[in-house]
Amino acid sequence: MSFIPKTGSFEGMKSLNKSAIMNIIRTQGPISRADIAKLTKLTPPTVGSIVAELHQANFIKEETGAAKSQGGRKPIMLSLDTSNYFIIGLYGAAEVITTVVSNLDGEIIYSHNQEVFTSPSQEEFLTMLKECIQSTLRTNSLQYSSIVGIGVAMHGLVDPEEGIALFAPHLNLTQIPIKESLEDTFSIPVLVENDVRALTLAESWYGKGKDVSDFICISVGRGIGSGIVLNHKIYTGKYNSAGEIGHTIVDVNGPRCKCGNYGCLEAFSSESAILEKLKRGIRFGRETILSETNLSIDSVFQAAEKGDSLAQEALEESGRYLGLAIANLINIFTPSKVILEGKLFEAGDLILAPIRAMVDRSTLKSSPGSEAIEPSDLGKKGMAIGACTLVLRSIFKPGGF
Ligand SMILES: [Zn+2]
Repeated sequence: MSFIPKTGSFEGMKSLNKSAIMNIIRTQGPISRADIAKLTKLTPPTVGSIVAELHQANFIKEETGAAKSQGGRKPIMLSLDTSNYFIIGLYGAAEVITTVVSNLDGEIIYSHNQEVFTSPSQEEFLTMLKECIQSTLRTNSLQYSSIVGIGVAMHGLVDPEEGIALFAPHLNLTQIPIKESLEDTFSIPVLVENDVRALTLAESWYGKGKDVSDFICISVGRGIGSGIVLNHKIYTGKYNSAGEIGHTIVDVNGPRCKCGNYGCLEAFSSESAILEKLKRGIRFGRETILSETNLSIDSVFQAAEKGDSLAQEALEESGRYLGLAIANLINIFTPSKVILEGKLFEAGDLILAPIRAMVDRSTLKSSPGSEAIEPSDLGKKGMAIGACTLVLRSIFKPGGF
């Protein structure tokens, strides 16, 4: 994926050498020109002229370092200047659009949630995305020229090359030309990716997947998806749809799933599946403090913590099936980590204990067991951080992960 800026001081900033130098300054700064030359194996004059260009564009800043030896000249040290350029990240979930602004270090400096009204048309959804961007620019007094890119993490099936949301099941929309539409309006480069894959990228840069060559990130919400990282690369498959763990079948006699099959993991373990199971329990007259009217994942956690057996059983069953699917993935890929993301995991051991028990029971001795499992620590903004990371990757590590 190449990053071709259209506007502002970024014009002509793309080149592999520039990206390599910027990435070294990002990860190892403050650093001297001489050390950059050593690490990149570029000649000192090449480093000098690229650094001058980056400095001119206010991308990096200089400071005087400590002298190496007595009487020696103090080296000029370079570090990333995070005060001039920003990235807008959007996460298009089922019922909400999250908009964040990050600096070049991936730090989130603004975040806003906008509810999505029921069943928008394609045009209405695109207008909502644009309004989120416009109000973010306004609220933060940001100029168009200070935005280096817009990243969009979209639920469902995405074509990242064309920037099209091919199928957004929770909105019941297909073929949404997100990249084209936003670039036409804002003249800022736009990158689009599936939400769980964007999250996986964020885990790799800033989360539990940092410096881990092989890991799997599993996200549980209304649906269930996964991102698979093999040898420092995200595995996309031929059709950009790899990782659909939610539609792997965990019980051939199980309930019908939204995809049309029977017994998919999503039909047992997603937030929607848990709430459906509880509704059935309440209707069948099971003893519980839960009521059908105010049923939410939060109320389920609270009831389970108070010892409500119906709520505890629902979480336990969700965890058991998740554990089964995770064990299968562990046996196939032997990742060193399995990172779990989603509100569900805020339930702690109520959900994690049955997952870990099932994983330990069902994985081979040659695979990592439940010790590979770790909840994400990126929090609720993980997907939106991932959206920003799409743009950061295109600046600092084009073509990399
Ligand atoms: Zn399914």
